[in-house]
Amino acid sequence: MDSLFVCVHNYPFESFYFMENKVRVRFAPSPTGYLHVGGARSALFNWLFARHHRGIFILRIEDTDAARSTEESTRAILDSLAWLGLDFDEGPFFQSERTALYQKYVQKLLDENKAYFCFCSPELLEEKRKKALAAKLPPKYDGTCASLTKAEALTRIDNGEKAAVRFRKLEGFTDINDLVRGRVTFDNRVLDDFIILRSDGTPVYNLTVVVDDIEMRITHVIRGEEHLSNTPRQLMLYQAFGQPAPYFAHVSVILAPDKTKLSKRHGAASVLEFRELGYLPEALMNYLALLGWAYDDKTEFFSKEELIEKFSLDKVSKNPAIFDHNKLSWMNSIYLKRVPLSRLEELLIPLLKEKGYDIEKINKTWLHSVIELERQRAKTVKDIATNFDYYLADKITIEPEAAKKHLSPAESRILLLMLETELDKLEPYTIENIEKLFIKITTEKGVKLGQLVHPARVALTGKTVGPGIYELLFAMGKETAVKRIKAVLESK
Ligand code: GLU
Repeated sequence: MDSLFVCVHNYPFESFYFMENKVRVRFAPSPTGYLHVGGARSALFNWLFARHHRGIFILRIEDTDAARSTEESTRAILDSLAWLGLDFDEGPFFQSERTALYQKYVQKLLDENKAYFCFCSPELLEEKRKKALAAKLPPKYDGTCASLTKAEALTRIDNGEKAAVRFRKLEGFTDINDLVRGRVTFDNRVLDDFIILRSDGTPVYNLTVVVDDIEMRITHVIRGEEHLSNTPRQLMLYQAFGQPAPYFAHVSVILAPDKTKLSKRHGAASVLEFRELGYLPEALMNYLALLGWAYDDKTEFFSKEELIEKFSLDKVSKNPAIFDHNKLSWMNSIYLKRVPLSRLEELLIPLLKEKGYDIEKINKTWLHSVIELERQRAKTVKDIATNFDYYLADKITIEPEAAKKHLSPAESRILLLMLETELDKLEPYTIENIEKLFIKITTEKGVKLGQLVHPARVALTGKTVGPGIYELLFAMGKETAVKRIKAVLESK
């Protein structure tokens, strides 16, 4: 049976899901940086869940932290989602535009004495926090303002004192029946009366997230594990508002292969970086889906449609997921071999233009044959673009190590000279005839084929690896090939 129906929470109210019978999920990033793989994975899981259940996927920008939120970051998030193909049905909603709503909810709690004004200054709180830590006690709020009467509090406010608003935490235990982690129980004693509205009138995350999830009738909250510890506070707020809580699914952290936190030093980490590097969005989507979710223990390749059809939360693991750049590159290389040539052409043209090549002058058939040849070994679209230099650049750069090994020996130079002379005369210039020529030269000289292939490749491309040498020579054209070999023979 689907996980959606088997999880029974012991929350005091029924979920919105049962009221509306429609899944409503949200992706709620804070626009304080680029969309990294962790956020993208959360977005993807929400999107897949929504699409699988024919539900609604909402985008909510959690930009209440004015100092850290930027428009640039919001744009990057929108671009990243669009590029990955994660379309949303409602939003984007901006929390910064909803302050009055949050204040209304806070007022309700104040009216019902479920929250109270707190006049403790940040300095005083910091002092108490330090004392508690020094005494090896958890730094919890000591409840100084909890017993102030409403009248006392209002008088102080009228006198110009600044006050934050604190929520009166509930006693006992909070159970979360997490759809990924199972039952997680928190002892409410570890919590304190937390701030929901700062003294400057700005709302705090735990409040805004609950108010919005209520207002947006969210049925399932699928988010990173780092928010699990916030969940008891949020559940208390649902209860205080007399509203049903959504189901929660906290997905595991993403680590690097060395089991440390994934960071810049492990390589690209944001969606836009992967786009820039020439990854295909469908490959990244496929790879991200496998970060914590598995359909079975063998299938790795899933189209978007298959992911939508097969995705379910009960197959999401609570163990940390490992982000392996090599595996992603490998997956991308497989996708590069499969996509229609026209798609690659479309992606490559701007890159080739950027490199200064006059695309209008390039013959289409030739262009397609080179894409076909190069995509067999490429890991990214960018690799293909780079390798176009083999064919189009005026001059190539030869890797020094490769030159030393393959171009310096006298034997190599003799073979290259023969190749150059013969290639120049070769008619018709076909793959078959080029191959025959290589066999002829090496047979005549009594050397192995590799003794000519390796120096030729280095002379032609500057590198020791690349596509098949005969196809390469053919695609390069006689004139360029001869020119490249000549340049090598003339040097030193
Ligand atoms: N804005 C939070 C974040 O970017 C997400 C909050 C949530 O999903 O509940 O981490």
